[in-house]
Amino acid sequence: MAVDRLSQAWATIKRIAVFVLLVMLAAAIAEDTFIRYRDKVWTIFSSSLRSLWSDVISFFAHDELKLYIVGTFILTTGVFWLSNLFFILLDLTGWPACILTYKIQPEFLLLMTDFLKALKVALFNQIFVGIPVLSCTVSTMRWMGSTWSAEELPSVNRVLLELAVFAVVEEIGFYYSHRLLHHPRLYKYIHKKHHEWTAPVGIVSIYAHPVEHVFANLVPPGLGPILMGSHLFTAWLFWAIAIVSTTIDHSGYRLPVFLSPDFHDFHHLKFNTNYGVLGILDRLHGTDALFRKHTLDDRDTNPKTQ
Ligand SMILES: [Zn+2]
Ligand SMILES: [Zn+2]
Repeated sequence: MAVDRLSQAWATIKRIAVFVLLVMLAAAIAEDTFIRYRDKVWTIFSSSLRSLWSDVISFFAHDELKLYIVGTFILTTGVFWLSNLFFILLDLTGWPACILTYKIQPEFLLLMTDFLKALKVALFNQIFVGIPVLSCTVSTMRWMGSTWSAEELPSVNRVLLELAVFAVVEEIGFYYSHRLLHHPRLYKYIHKKHHEWTAPVGIVSIYAHPVEHVFANLVPPGLGPILMGSHLFTAWLFWAIAIVSTTIDHSGYRLPVFLSPDFHDFHHLKFNTNYGVLGILDRLHGTDALFRKHTLDDRDTNPKTQ
């Protein structure tokens, strides 16, 4: 009997060992395939990017200052208005009507007068606040080791690592600056302007007092590339992602193809909740409690919509 049990146990150990070995082998093959595939894709992609970057540098006649200030202004403004164009047309014309069903607060419609008011503030902040801030940061970027005139681009690993660091720095910077702006002694002087919109639309992401635009909209996404001494290419990539992301967050539409903007939309609706971008610090500080309760209640009352 004892011999039987021993051989049974031995057979089980062998089966487990074979299973573990197979899993490890499969993981190693998958990892190896993934790395090779990723490197292959990046090689093809990076040669196109390198030639594009080389064209960009040539366009600015290898002038670092022009490339940083004018190039960044053209890129960020272009991404902002292109990503907002669809939402502006949708809100002003109501076409295509089928997308209106995805509106989070359908009772609020964008009036032309409100749109023009937001347009003026957005243009003011981009031109009269954005350009001076860019001009002030150029020396710091250089001092921290940032390069952008070289035709060589950073490696894929470096780009991915820096994007992750930028996201964390932005979350910390935006969360705490945003919470400070909600301090009762400051709120009415600065941040109240942004909260005129209880149902935001895309361009409202930069509808803000100039002080807020600098400290909550420009510094948090700008700090990561400065601290890391990043290549301008990586900074541009992150700023483009950040602009599209904040446009979606303020769009007022819960479109199935995009990430949900409910988190920040709820901040505009209720004010003293959901201060961050990713929601990590809100969870840590418990400032998303109302939102989580609301989401759970909503799930209970409308189970089919979840
Ligand atoms: Zn907002
Ligand atoms: Zn706020």
